Amino acid sequence: MLAALALTISLAVAPKPHIIWKPIPYGPTRKAEMAAYSKKHYGIDSWHLHPKVIVEHYTASNSFSSAWNAFAANTPDPELGELPGTCAHFIVDRNGKIYELVPTDVMCRHTVGLNYISIGIEHVGTSDAEILHDPAQIRASLALTAWLVDRFHIRIRNVIGHSESLSSPYHRERYKPWAHQTHSDWKHADMDVYRRKLRALLNADAQR
Ligand SMILES: [Zn+2]
Repeated sequence: MLAALALTISLAVAPKPHIIWKPIPYGPTRKAEMAAYSKKHYGIDSWHLHPKVIVEHYTASNSFSSAWNAFAANTPDPELGELPGTCAHFIVDRNGKIYELVPTDVMCRHTVGLNYISIGIEHVGTSDAEILHDPAQIRASLALTAWLVDRFHIRIRNVIGHSESLSSPYHRERYKPWAHQTHSDWKHADMDVYRRKLRALLNADAQR
Protein backbone atom coordinates (compact mmCIF):
# COMPACT_ATOMS: atom_id res chain seq x y z
CA MET A 1 0.00 0.00 0.00
CA LEU A 2 2.89 2.34 0.81
CA ALA A 3 4.52 1.45 -2.50
CA ALA A 4 1.29 2.26 -4.33
CA LEU A 5 1.10 5.60 -2.52
CA ALA A 6 4.71 6.43 -3.42
CA LEU A 7 3.98 5.64 -7.06
CA THR A 8 0.96 7.96 -7.01
CA ILE A 9 3.05 10.79 -5.56
CA SER A 10 5.89 10.40 -8.05
CA LEU A 11 3.45 10.49 -10.97
CA ALA A 12 1.76 13.72 -9.85
CA VAL A 13 2.66 16.54 -12.20
CA ALA A 14 2.10 20.26 -12.33
CA PRO A 15 -1.23 21.00 -14.03
CA LYS A 16 -1.27 22.74 -17.39
CA PRO A 17 -2.23 26.40 -16.90
CA HIS A 18 -4.61 28.15 -19.28
CA ILE A 19 -2.58 29.16 -22.36
CA ILE A 20 -3.84 31.38 -25.17
CA TRP A 21 -2.50 30.29 -28.57
CA LYS A 22 -1.53 33.47 -30.40
CA PRO A 23 1.05 32.36 -32.96
CA ILE A 24 3.46 34.70 -34.72
CA PRO A 25 4.04 33.98 -38.43
CA TYR A 26 6.65 31.20 -38.55
CA GLY A 27 6.45 29.70 -42.02
CA PRO A 28 9.04 27.91 -44.18
CA THR A 29 11.16 31.05 -44.79
CA ARG A 30 11.56 31.85 -41.10
CA LYS A 31 12.21 28.18 -40.32
CA ALA A 32 14.95 28.10 -42.98
CA GLU A 33 16.45 31.28 -41.47
CA MET A 34 16.38 29.64 -38.03
CA ALA A 35 18.11 26.51 -39.35
CA ALA A 36 20.79 28.66 -41.03
CA TYR A 37 21.27 30.63 -37.78
CA SER A 38 21.52 27.39 -35.84
CA LYS A 39 24.12 26.01 -38.25
CA LYS A 40 26.25 29.16 -37.98
CA HIS A 41 26.03 29.54 -34.21
CA TYR A 42 25.67 25.95 -32.96
CA GLY A 43 26.73 23.69 -35.83
CA ILE A 44 23.16 22.27 -35.95
CA ASP A 45 21.41 22.53 -39.33
CA SER A 46 17.87 22.39 -37.92
CA TRP A 47 15.07 24.47 -36.42
CA HIS A 48 13.75 21.56 -34.32
CA LEU A 49 13.93 22.14 -30.57
CA HIS A 50 14.33 19.50 -27.85
CA PRO A 51 14.36 21.73 -24.76
CA LYS A 52 16.53 21.12 -21.69
CA VAL A 53 16.68 24.73 -20.47
CA ILE A 54 14.09 27.46 -19.78
CA VAL A 55 15.21 31.10 -19.98
CA GLU A 56 13.17 33.81 -18.25
CA HIS A 57 13.12 37.34 -19.71
CA TYR A 58 11.30 40.61 -19.39
CA THR A 59 10.34 42.75 -22.34
CA ALA A 60 11.57 46.16 -21.06
CA SER A 61 8.27 47.47 -22.42
CA ASN A 62 4.77 48.00 -21.12
CA SER A 63 2.42 46.05 -23.34
CA PHE A 64 1.83 42.56 -24.61
CA SER A 65 0.93 43.83 -28.09
CA SER A 66 4.22 45.71 -28.61
CA ALA A 67 6.19 42.58 -27.69
CA TRP A 68 4.02 40.34 -29.90
CA ASN A 69 4.36 42.77 -32.84
CA ALA A 70 8.15 42.96 -32.47
CA PHE A 71 8.45 39.16 -32.49
CA ALA A 72 6.00 38.75 -35.37
CA ALA A 73 7.82 41.24 -37.61
CA ASN A 74 10.77 38.93 -38.38
CA THR A 75 13.15 41.78 -39.11
CA PRO A 76 16.88 41.64 -38.30
CA ASP A 77 17.31 42.37 -34.58
CA PRO A 78 18.53 45.93 -33.88
CA GLU A 79 21.46 44.85 -31.68
CA LEU A 80 23.10 42.07 -33.69
CA GLY A 81 21.45 42.50 -37.09
CA GLU A 82 20.72 38.87 -37.96
CA LEU A 83 17.73 36.89 -39.15
CA PRO A 84 15.41 35.37 -38.16
CA GLY A 85 14.02 38.12 -35.94
CA THR A 86 14.00 37.60 -32.18
CA CYS A 87 11.09 35.84 -30.52
CA ALA A 88 9.98 33.93 -27.44
CA HIS A 89 7.81 30.85 -27.06
CA PHE A 90 5.60 32.45 -24.40
CA ILE A 91 4.68 35.91 -23.12
CA VAL A 92 3.21 36.28 -19.62
CA ASP A 93 1.21 39.50 -19.39
CA ARG A 94 0.72 41.64 -16.27
CA ASN A 95 -2.84 40.37 -15.82
CA GLY A 96 -1.53 36.79 -15.60
CA LYS A 97 -2.62 35.83 -19.11
CA ILE A 98 -0.22 33.39 -20.77
CA TYR A 99 0.23 33.54 -24.54
CA GLU A 100 2.01 30.92 -26.64
CA LEU A 101 3.58 32.38 -29.80
CA VAL A 102 5.74 29.52 -31.07
CA PRO A 103 5.35 25.75 -30.50
CA THR A 104 7.86 24.30 -28.03
CA ASP A 105 9.37 22.01 -30.69
CA VAL A 106 10.54 24.99 -32.77
CA MET A 107 13.68 27.03 -31.95
CA CYS A 108 13.22 30.71 -31.20
CA ARG A 109 15.88 33.45 -31.05
CA HIS A 110 15.74 34.81 -27.47
CA THR A 111 19.13 34.04 -25.87
CA VAL A 112 22.50 34.05 -27.63
CA GLY A 113 24.26 30.73 -26.93
CA LEU A 114 21.14 28.84 -25.84
CA ASN A 115 18.55 29.05 -28.63
CA TYR A 116 19.28 25.48 -29.78
CA ILE A 117 18.21 23.98 -26.43
CA SER A 118 15.93 26.40 -24.59
CA ILE A 119 12.36 27.61 -24.27
CA GLY A 120 12.09 31.39 -23.90
CA ILE A 121 9.50 32.98 -21.61
CA GLU A 122 8.99 36.75 -21.79
CA HIS A 123 7.24 38.80 -19.13
CA VAL A 124 5.69 42.17 -19.90
CA GLY A 125 7.55 44.55 -17.59
CA THR A 126 10.63 46.61 -16.97
CA SER A 127 12.39 44.87 -14.04
CA ASP A 128 12.72 41.52 -12.26
CA ALA A 129 11.32 43.06 -9.06
CA GLU A 130 8.23 44.39 -10.79
CA ILE A 131 7.31 40.90 -12.00
CA LEU A 132 8.22 39.16 -8.74
CA HIS A 133 5.87 41.55 -6.90
CA ASP A 134 2.95 41.31 -9.34
CA PRO A 135 0.84 38.51 -7.81
CA ALA A 136 -1.11 37.61 -10.97
CA GLN A 137 1.93 37.69 -13.22
CA ILE A 138 4.32 35.73 -10.99
CA ARG A 139 1.63 33.12 -10.24
CA ALA A 140 1.07 32.57 -13.97
CA SER A 141 4.79 32.54 -14.71
CA LEU A 142 5.51 29.90 -12.06
CA ALA A 143 2.53 27.76 -13.14
CA LEU A 144 3.73 27.85 -16.76
CA THR A 145 7.35 27.11 -15.88
CA ALA A 146 6.38 24.30 -13.48
CA TRP A 147 4.24 22.66 -16.17
CA LEU A 148 7.10 22.90 -18.71
CA VAL A 149 9.63 21.56 -16.17
CA ASP A 150 7.48 18.47 -15.64
CA ARG A 151 6.58 18.05 -19.29
CA PHE A 152 10.18 18.14 -20.57
CA HIS A 153 11.93 16.76 -17.45
CA ILE A 154 13.94 19.96 -17.04
CA ARG A 155 16.04 20.39 -13.92
CA ILE A 156 15.23 23.40 -11.75
CA ARG A 157 18.88 24.51 -11.97
CA ASN A 158 18.33 24.78 -15.74
CA VAL A 159 15.54 27.31 -15.24
CA ILE A 160 17.67 30.42 -15.62
CA GLY A 161 17.44 34.16 -16.15
CA HIS A 162 18.78 35.70 -19.35
CA SER A 163 21.62 37.32 -17.34
CA GLU A 164 22.75 33.80 -16.28
CA SER A 165 23.15 32.54 -19.87
CA LEU A 166 26.96 32.54 -19.98
CA SER A 167 27.27 30.28 -16.94
CA SER A 168 24.83 27.65 -18.25
CA PRO A 169 26.56 24.30 -18.93
CA TYR A 170 24.55 24.24 -22.18
CA HIS A 171 25.90 27.59 -23.44
CA ARG A 172 27.41 27.16 -26.89
CA GLU A 173 28.43 29.86 -29.39
CA ARG A 174 30.61 29.17 -32.43
CA TYR A 175 30.62 32.79 -33.64
CA LYS A 176 33.44 34.27 -31.55
CA PRO A 177 32.28 37.94 -31.45
CA TRP A 178 29.10 36.75 -29.70
CA ALA A 179 30.80 34.32 -27.28
CA HIS A 180 30.30 36.64 -24.28
CA GLN A 181 27.08 38.38 -25.35
CA THR A 182 24.24 38.38 -22.83
CA HIS A 183 21.57 40.69 -21.38
CA SER A 184 20.90 41.92 -17.87
CA ASP A 185 17.28 40.74 -17.49
CA TRP A 186 16.56 38.39 -14.57
CA LYS A 187 19.62 38.65 -12.35
CA HIS A 188 21.02 35.70 -10.40
CA ALA A 189 19.71 36.87 -6.99
CA ASP A 190 16.19 37.34 -8.37
CA MET A 191 16.35 33.97 -10.13
CA ASP A 192 17.29 32.35 -6.81
CA VAL A 193 14.01 33.73 -5.45
CA TYR A 194 12.18 32.52 -8.57
CA ARG A 195 13.70 29.00 -8.36
CA ARG A 196 12.82 28.80 -4.66
CA LYS A 197 9.19 29.63 -5.43
CA LEU A 198 9.22 27.17 -8.33
CA ARG A 199 10.59 24.36 -6.16
CA ALA A 200 7.91 25.04 -3.54
CA LEU A 201 5.17 24.95 -6.18
CA LEU A 202 6.46 21.70 -7.70
CA ASN A 203 6.67 20.10 -4.25
CA ALA A 204 3.12 21.23 -3.48
CA ASP A 205 1.92 19.72 -6.77
CA ALA A 206 3.72 16.45 -6.05
CA GLN A 207 1.97 16.18 -2.67
CA ARG A 208 -1.56 16.68 -3.93
ZN1 LIG B 1 16.14 38.64 -22.30
